Amino acid sequence: MRKKYAAGNWKMNKTFEEGQILLSEVVNMVKDEVVNPNVQVVLGVPFPYLSSFSKLIDTPKVALAAQNCHPKESGAYTGEVSVSMLKSAGVKYVIIGHSERREYFNESDEFVAQKVDAILAGGLTPIFCCGETLSQREAGIHFDFVSGQLTNSLFHLSADDLKKVVIAYEPIWAIGTGVTASSAQAQEMHKVLRDHLASKYGQEVAEEISILYGGSVGAGNAQELFSQPDVDGGLVGGASLKSRDFTDISKSFPA
Ligand code: PEP
Repeated sequence: MRKKYAAGNWKMNKTFEEGQILLSEVVNMVKDEVVNPNVQVVLGVPFPYLSSFSKLIDTPKVALAAQNCHPKESGAYTGEVSVSMLKSAGVKYVIIGHSERREYFNESDEFVAQKVDAILAGGLTPIFCCGETLSQREAGIHFDFVSGQLTNSLFHLSADDLKKVVIAYEPIWAIGTGVTASSAQAQEMHKVLRDHLASKYGQEVAEEISILYGGSVGAGNAQELFSQPDVDGGLVGGASLKSRDFTDISKSFPA
């Protein structure tokens, strides 16, 4: 059975003290309440908090993610953070290719591919984000565009390495807008992406890859989205900043 994920992306939110409270609340709720044992909860917190927050997590049900990394191992890259730094701070997952980084920091598919390689070489798990704009969807090129993002950033990997990647499909028009893709739209794209993976790596490998949906996931729509056969969880922005909502999302998987 594919692993399921409830992954939070705090983005550039919360002070250190606020973050400590939020993290402790989520950890305690996830430990105390019934979360499907096949669900991995992941919290993508700001860089400066990673090291100390990793010491607050006392359950394997919750793991820490960084929201970015640099592909180089070390060197003169002022302000950047390498995979080995993240690893030494207790990080297990790294979110890469988020549309905000692609848009505001001009990150290309090729640069994201280098990050994928660095993360895998460091033994961490990439959460690879992809997704189309509204105009691409309206033009009917969304399936080709998102499949192309996978081709450009992942298809150089061996099958064994591909199996270590988590994919997050995040239609840009649904991120932070309160407009969620319908469960049918999410399922349709996830199936297209799984078929695209199968065309290169075979069905057996494609069936092993977790594909998360992201874009205005909340406690009210998670159950419907996560009940779709190719939707293996969510990458959650806004709702991950509220411990009750995020824990409820973590509990929204079919038994
Ligand atoms: C995100 O930033 O990855 C995201 C999906 O945000 P939101 O849940 O707020 O739409």
